[in-house]
Amino acid sequence: MNIDMAPAKGIALVLCAPSGAGKTTLVNRLMAEFPLEFSISCTTRAPRGEEKDGVDYVFLDRETFLQRRERGYFAEWAEVHGNFYGTPLEPVRERLKQGKDMLFDIDVQGAAQLSLTLPEARFAFILPPSMAELERRLRGRGTDSDEAIAVRLSNARAEIMNSHWFDAMIVNDNIDKAYDQLRAFYIASALQPSARPFLARTICMA
Ligand code: 5GP
Repeated sequence: MNIDMAPAKGIALVLCAPSGAGKTTLVNRLMAEFPLEFSISCTTRAPRGEEKDGVDYVFLDRETFLQRRERGYFAEWAEVHGNFYGTPLEPVRERLKQGKDMLFDIDVQGAAQLSLTLPEARFAFILPPSMAELERRLRGRGTDSDEAIAVRLSNARAEIMNSHWFDAMIVNDNIDKAYDQLRAFYIASALQPSARPFLARTICMA
């Protein structure tokens, strides 16, 4: 981020959303506009479509994942839809120290853990305008059975009801408006004193 002076420390920007809220579109737009680095998670789920190992995810078998988890390798981890997902801690710490901004696309349970292991992280929750609209979007994708949609909706309701601790709540009723709000949140996060630990001293010495 380049506002006045580069911050000495990178921003950890965490995005959570129920599936169907439009998170992927927002992530892609933000990454196209700003030099954010995507935090590559480890997962035990199989690669889908064009996904590449080490790019979209690091794909691990269950045993390796659990060994790493025991070793404290992950900043957070969670079981989502029967698979394990986790964020490696050291590469993230290293990149933030170098001043690199990082974007995390993780679930709510993982985000809550990350708020403890990475207290300086900033958390945004993307909401659908209503449950009826979320259901309409999930049905429109045509990828899930009625049963799977019912599970997603019930999970979404629980996540939304527990989202009060996030730093920002962005309602995606219009993708351009939601993007403007996310962008504003990211820019404001970079202005926090904790993101610019040496700024005051630099100015006073100049
Ligand atoms: P998918 O399998 O569709 O790529 O992701 C399923 C869910 O897992 C999404 O909600 C995604 O945000 C979440 N997820 C991806 N990586 C991680 C991670 O490292 N930790 C946690 N807690 N959730 C993750």
